[in-house]
Amino acid sequence: MKCDICGKAMAQTFLEKLKGTFVKDVKGKLRSVCFECQSRFRDKQSLLQQIK
Ligand SMILES: [Zn+2]
Repeated sequence: MKCDICGKAMAQTFLEKLKGTFVKDVKGKLRSVCFECQSRFRDKQSLLQQIK
């Protein structure tokens, strides 16, 4: 799975849990955001603005 902001593959923990988060965009589609982008953009609003 790739990050919807930077396009990099998302890191996984040893339990195959993705490091990162998921946010719903305006259309209600679930978008993946990697750990790095999640820490760059603190709130959900600015995360969504980065997703094309
Ligand atoms: Zn990213």
